[in-house]
Amino acid sequence: MDCQPTGNHMGTRQGVSLIVKSGNGVVAASKITKGTRIHAESPFITLPKLDEAPNAKALNHVVLKQLRSASRDDQRAFFSLGNIHGKTLPIPLGIVQTNALAYGPGGEGGVFLTGSQFNHDCLPSARTKWNGDLLKMTVHALRDIEPGEEITITYINLETYDVRQKTLEDGFQFTCSCETCTLPEDICKEMDADIMEIKAIDGFLKSTTVPLEVSLRFAYRQRYLIESNALDRAHAPDTYEFASQLAAVHKDYIRAKLFSERHLDIAMTEGGRDHPDTRQQRDMDYYLGSLLEQHHGPAVPYHFSVLDLEDWLWMQHLPEVESSEDGSSEDGEPSDEEREVLE
Ligand SMILES: [Zn+2]
Repeated sequence: MDCQPTGNHMGTRQGVSLIVKSGNGVVAASKITKGTRIHAESPFITLPKLDEAPNAKALNHVVLKQLRSASRDDQRAFFSLGNIHGKTLPIPLGIVQTNALAYGPGGEGGVFLTGSQFNHDCLPSARTKWNGDLLKMTVHALRDIEPGEEITITYINLETYDVRQKTLEDGFQFTCSCETCTLPEDICKEMDADIMEIKAIDGFLKSTTVPLEVSLRFAYRQRYLIESNALDRAHAPDTYEFASQLAAVHKDYIRAKLFSERHLDIAMTEGGRDHPDTRQQRDMDYYLGSLLEQHHGPAVPYHFSVLDLEDWLWMQHLPEVESSEDGSSEDGEPSDEEREVLE
């Protein structure tokens, strides 16, 4: 590991130049385009699964045992990581508790000498994902990142302002002052309302069976809220994956395939081509393509304008919707009647 204990350090990962500012974040040394793999790293310290966690003394012993077998440079890099626990815990354990990232399906945790140095942002520029085939945690760019810009990840799931601050305070002992958390109060409240609606729609769609056109109408609204707030960077629900599964269940293979292509695109951006999730989604996309061929369903109306094609895909222009008295806004807002179902 070429991480240094003090000062800034230049590192190159898969052709991406990073400046690792020890204990103070990671910065792009050159332009990084969306979907690029920024970093891939095996855990330096591995921890027992959460439900098998031993007491502090035993855990410290587990950490020390792994540290002893590491190189001197790596040991120095480990001790240069931040420690929010002061003298309340043995130093190695304090560093582990401060920097451990969850990875793997079983709730495993680990410390990554470089990966643990990415700072948090509620709308981050990158996504961490455990790749079970590579046995490495990968970091991919969720948007284009300019040279000199800090690369950030999120430590939490999609939440409203108060919940985010409490989770970060309790778990990481800091108050987030990212761009999203310092928005004017009225805009912050609007975003909170959108986040609550996104979550409510998610719960509704996953717990209720309604006709496909009703589900897609809510899904469209959810996707609109996610995109207009850029919340897809904040672990928002993957509307496309759900819409694809839903359409497939209703044997609407043409929509299932189109949503699947969009979901595949997101999977590639977040985890790369070689991630098991991407591979699984690629297989599903191929399968939906073969189902579409077998069933000779209607063709995609590519002659439509981009907006009309979107309306067709999400089944927006339905007679009962068009005739509703209150009308519907251009952002796909559900009618009052549909909204009642949510409340
Ligand atoms: Zn924040």
